Amino acid sequence: MVNLESLIAPRDEAPNPFRLSAAGKCARRLGYELHYPQEVPPVEPRVVAIFELGSLIHDWMRGKLSALYGERFHSVERPVELEVEPGFAVPGHIDGILETEEGPLLLDIKSASDKSAQNMSSNGAPYEYRAQVNAYLEATGLQKGALVVYNKNTSEVTTLPVDHDPTVVAQIKERFRAVRHSTPEQLPEREHEASSFACRYCPFRGRCW
Ligand code: SF4
Repeated sequence: MVNLESLIAPRDEAPNPFRLSAAGKCARRLGYELHYPQEVPPVEPRVVAIFELGSLIHDWMRGKLSALYGERFHSVERPVELEVEPGFAVPGHIDGILETEEGPLLLDIKSASDKSAQNMSSNGAPYEYRAQVNAYLEATGLQKGALVVYNKNTSEVTTLPVDHDPTVVAQIKERFRAVRHSTPEQLPEREHEASSFACRYCPFRGRCW
C-alpha cells in the first residue's frame, strides 16, 4: 500500500542558523541550533512533503515570471551575502529581481495555506517574512521588495509590498551577531512569549521554558 512514509523518508540534516532565510527567527532558537544541533528532531515525512511541494511551486512560479517578463525578471536564485560585522557575512539567495517603471523590485515567492494567505492579505507580511526580504534588500542594495504569495488552496496569487526598513535591518544584524557570540551558557534573549505560535512549534521549547 502506498503511503507517505513509503514515498518520503524523514530528513535528518544539521540545522544552519547562519542563513538569510532565518533573518527573522528567534535569536535564542538560532543559538540553540548552533549549540545543540543534535536536539533538532528529523523532519517528518509530512513536513518534508510540504517543503518539496513548496519548492516545486517556487520553480513553477519563477518559470511563469520569466515567461511573462522575459529579461525584465532576472537574478533568479542569485547568491547574496549580508555582512553583519566586519569579516562575517551571512549567505542566502534571492528568488529574483523584476525591473519595473518605478525601479528594481526584489521578489520573494511564498506558497501558503488559505488561512495564512488570507491572514497576510488582511494584516500584511508578518515580521519573519519582512525580515527575510529586508535581509535580501540590504544585501543587494535595493529599496523595494515584494512577497508573491501563492495560495495552495485556491491558486490565487497576491503581491504584498515590503520596503527597505533600516530598523528591521539593524535588528537582523544584531540577531545574527548575538547568535554568533553566544555560548551554550550565554544564549541570546528569548524573542517570543511561551504561549506564542513561534514557541508552540519550536523544537527547543522544552529546553527553553
Ligand atoms: S521556545 Fe520560543 S523563545 Fe524559546 S527558543 Fe523557541 S522560539 Fe525562542
